[in-house]
Amino acid sequence: MTEEKSVAVIGAGIFGLSLAIALRDRNYEVTVFDRSQYDANGYDPTADDVQAASADHNKIFRASYGKEIHYQRLALESRGAWVSDDEKRGSTEQDDDRDNRLFVNSGMLRIQPSENLSSLEKETLANMQRDGLRDTQFVKSDPADCERADKLGWKDKILNFQIPDSKSTYEAVLDSLAGFVRCSNACAHYQKVAADKGVKFHFGPQEGAVDYLVKVKSEIEPSKDKVAGLKTKNGVVHDADAVVVAAGSFSTQIFPDLSYHLESSAGSLATLKIDKSNTELWNKYSPERFPVMTWKSTPRDASGKDTGSIYVLPRTPEGLVKIGYRGVKWTNFQPAPQDTPFTQDGQWSVPLPVEECSLLPEPALYAIKQFVSIFMPEFESTPFFSTKLCWYTDSLDNSFVIDHVPTYAEESVFVCTGGSGHGAKFLPVLGKVGKPTHSTRPRLTD
Ligand SMILES: Cc1cc2nc3c(=O)[nH]c(=O)nc-3n(C[C@H](O)[C@H](O)[C@H](O)COP(=O)(O)OP(=O)(O)OC[C@H]3O[C@@H](n4cnc5c(N)ncnc54)[C@H](O)[C@@H]3O)c2cc1C
Repeated sequence: MTEEKSVAVIGAGIFGLSLAIALRDRNYEVTVFDRSQYDANGYDPTADDVQAASADHNKIFRASYGKEIHYQRLALESRGAWVSDDEKRGSTEQDDDRDNRLFVNSGMLRIQPSENLSSLEKETLANMQRDGLRDTQFVKSDPADCERADKLGWKDKILNFQIPDSKSTYEAVLDSLAGFVRCSNACAHYQKVAADKGVKFHFGPQEGAVDYLVKVKSEIEPSKDKVAGLKTKNGVVHDADAVVVAAGSFSTQIFPDLSYHLESSAGSLATLKIDKSNTELWNKYSPERFPVMTWKSTPRDASGKDTGSIYVLPRTPEGLVKIGYRGVKWTNFQPAPQDTPFTQDGQWSVPLPVEECSLLPEPALYAIKQFVSIFMPEFESTPFFSTKLCWYTDSLDNSFVIDHVPTYAEESVFVCTGGSGHGAKFLPVLGKVGKPTHSTRPRLTD
């Protein structure tokens, strides 16, 4: 058994939880801090004090990553973990009230902007082929694929739509490995797993919110500071051998050294609500009948206006159908604190206060409505049930930022963030990739 080193993790979202569990499994003494009262609100995305990308009804699971085969393989490893965890928990899909699956294999239909497959799709198919998984992908125009989809019970999810103002048909790929993860439920589950393993948690705006990192001169490397712990808003100092910054889109504010690597930007989400009494829609949009859909648009309306990319997920057990717009991400530039290593004319983009995140910018609303009118015509005149800006933590190359910070002594600071809009699916495996082991430097391809 190794000596128990203490690690303080800032953030109990997907990155923080995943790492906390992996560290505890290696006998570290782990304490997680989060300013949200997750022990009371259970990661409810609608709770007033919740602002985290991880706290959401659902996020897409996909292993389709174009050329990035390392992400494809990591996603498949993660998929195995989701499935086996659901099996262990005896999860069921029998009816909505008892459906407690964290991973739902609804499939994903990737609708192309034209009759041809994009180069990204071709790269994905090539890498699926390389890993012996080509049979799991069904190309709409390929008769052999459609026949296989039919035999395997997937054909009905290769949905057919009439695109207005378009004479041509569109190409699409149905990915039968994909689906979605129930994010908030997954966080609540993994938080409990972590607590059961002995990870300690401090939650809430006083006890859990981190004010700043405590820095001291290192005796071992006198030219550098080391981080000796952190101070929470209630004034308590918590000592730790290492501090992990895993605060998602808030990470730069806690640790401005990250300002060169990360930027916070907002994605646009809207939900529509289906009443259970509307049996036709309730069934049509269920995960059993409706896949996750992504639509990469080209200029589609009469004026040639680019409506951006849209995705939609099957309805939740409560009847919510979530639609996301990823054509444009929104920034919120504010004056950066003095000495911030990287700014844009003294400013940086940070999340808006949660109470200012319920309205979407006009281009996002336009694109979502456009999508609804083509692909979900039943809802064309239905008002949105909710709208929300949800904050990304974008890295320079959209890869995760998981490493020690070399400018601090004694490997006392570690960062585990940079989800860049695709981290949720990796919850069961992320921490194992990124353990701060005090000797080997982590690499994503480990
Ligand atoms: C719009 C959108 C769509 C996405 N879609 C997908 C998808 O389809 N599939 C997918 O796999 N991924 C998706 N992602 C990415 C995924 O959601 C993120 O990668 C992941 O949730 C990030 O987790 P995190 O732990 O880094 O950050 P967060 O979930 O933001 O967690 C950070 C935590 O830090 C806490 N915190 C902040 N400040 C402090 C402080 N001072 N003290 C203590 N705690 C603090 C917060 O309360 C929060 O709980 C999407 C992201 C967005 C924004």
